[in-house]
Amino acid sequence: MKHNFGAGPCILPAIVLDQAADAVRDFNGIGLSILEISHRTPEFEAVINETQGLVRELLNVPADYSILFLQGGASTQFSMLAMNFLHQGKKAAYLDTGFFSLKAIKEALFFGEVDIVASSKDKNYYYVPVGYQIPATAAYFHYCSNNTIEGTEMFSHPASSVPVICDMSSDIFSRPIQVADFDLIYAGAQKNMGPAGMTLVVVKNNLLEKITAEVASMSDYRIFRDNNSMFNTPPVFSIYVAMLNLRWLKEKGGVTQQEVENIAKSDLLYTEIDRNTLFYGLADPKDRSRMNVTFKMHDPGLEAEFLDFASQKGIVGIKGYPSAGGFRVSLYNALPISSVEVLVKCMQDFEAKNLNQKVSLENKVTV
Ligand SMILES: *Cc1c(COP(=O)(O)O)cnc(C)c1O
Repeated sequence: MKHNFGAGPCILPAIVLDQAADAVRDFNGIGLSILEISHRTPEFEAVINETQGLVRELLNVPADYSILFLQGGASTQFSMLAMNFLHQGKKAAYLDTGFFSLKAIKEALFFGEVDIVASSKDKNYYYVPVGYQIPATAAYFHYCSNNTIEGTEMFSHPASSVPVICDMSSDIFSRPIQVADFDLIYAGAQKNMGPAGMTLVVVKNNLLEKITAEVASMSDYRIFRDNNSMFNTPPVFSIYVAMLNLRWLKEKGGVTQQEVENIAKSDLLYTEIDRNTLFYGLADPKDRSRMNVTFKMHDPGLEAEFLDFASQKGIVGIKGYPSAGGFRVSLYNALPISSVEVLVKCMQDFEAKNLNQKVSLENKVTV
């Protein structure tokens, strides 16, 4: 048994994997695999419509928003959103909170000017800035609600008189949100929604009415809205597995119940990080992410040994992002609290083992 703390693609519920495997062999008893049916069949139309319905229900999406399933990952959204909304002569406002927000800024710069309203770069992005102004003339304000690599998360956002665009790739469906506070939300599916290959976009229809730029078809949100996300062949299997996963989420009580579990899981781990003499957390406690927990060891020389110790207990996916180092433990929806308990026990055992070694070493020295 593995405890999968990987940052993405994420752990999925065992039942979802079983159902997906069944559909690969024979989809709904029609004698064909989900992988080999046309996206124009009534069978697949039912899948895409149910998936949209589940997104609308679980996130309580108002009627004047469209739900789109696109491809190219969240990374494609970085440029696509600027292509659509960063019009000639305008500047877009961006909050710089780390690796992915910086990537979004770099892509926007291909299409126009960017005003970085605040940055937490001064402290390696281990906090979220507050108290900045969003210019009323900005084309839009962009930020990332959960910084997957740094381990910070925003639970509220600044009031903005301009359209708000949010990258929610790694905390979508982890808690209730007020969709009406946003004009466009996007998320690569593989962090907390399903397998890689599909990107969710939830967009306010009247934002799309404001597009004046010339946009190529595959980058035009309006084309995907008008074609029910089937302007070209959609990522059929990714959408199908996301649907199964959202059914699972609905069944267990939706995002309200999920938030309770996510708070319990993250509290358990942060409490141990703060208690354990070998480890320390990286993110400012007030901005700690419930999805991605980042920490290091006071003695970096022990990190490889701890990784090995943990892997013997079936713990996988906890190594930090290469440029960040240390550890990053991801607690996505499908990860059971029992896996967090195993990790916490492992940290305690490693601490005890280490103290014993120290004591025996000190004894040797004093003898
Ligand atoms: C992973 C991630 C991305 C990039 O997603 P891709 O689907 O790989 O392009 C963007 N933003 C955030 C917050 C992420 O966690």
